[in-house]
Amino acid sequence: MRTETSNETRLREDICRFGRSLFERGLTPGSSGNISVRLDGGGWLVTPTNASLGFLDPAKLSRLDEQGRLVSGDAPTKEVPLHTALYDTRGSARAIVHLHSTHSVALSMLPEIDPRAALPPMTAYYLMKCGATALVPYYRPGDPKVADAIKGLAGNYSSVLLANHGPVVAGDTLEAAVFATEELEETAKLYLLLRGMNPRYLSPEQVADLVKVFGVTLPEHGDGH
Ligand SMILES: [Zn+2]
Repeated sequence: MRTETSNETRLREDICRFGRSLFERGLTPGSSGNISVRLDGGGWLVTPTNASLGFLDPAKLSRLDEQGRLVSGDAPTKEVPLHTALYDTRGSARAIVHLHSTHSVALSMLPEIDPRAALPPMTAYYLMKCGATALVPYYRPGDPKVADAIKGLAGNYSSVLLANHGPVVAGDTLEAAVFATEELEETAKLYLLLRGMNPRYLSPEQVADLVKVFGVTLPEHGDGH
């Protein structure tokens, strides 16, 4: 028998509500994509395997214990290792969203992408919600190397793009993780719209101003900035 707090009941409903919203706007097709949320009492909730985010049932969400073992609900998504890798390295993460969103996946295949800054500083909101986005190389589904690659980022990135696959984004709340994932997708779309048009991105001074005023944290970059 499942006992749950009112907070857990609300989180279960939130996962289903955000999942439906993402699905209905075409941000993750078919049964792709998954969502997880850390529970106050330990363990977490995650969306089940082969479940469409558009048609989730709050009572069937997979509840896992601290060690990732199934406590109740349907079997969890096979992509649980993506989530645990990010939770393990980002202590502040309370929720994670992973989608197969078209523009982000397209971006991940372009040859010029910097693996430590998959997108240039295009808009203030991208920087404020996503920081910088890391690109992890392609691995076949289920390969444990993808979790190793995420762990290798040492928790410096809240948004990670898996090449030829899709984004994995952590947030302090489920809402923050969802909104950051949407911001990443929209910024990837802008990048594709403007590719080859020599657009003006934010200048280093404008980025420094956002860092100062809004406390945006950007990982150290290879060029020393
Ligand atoms: Zn996936």
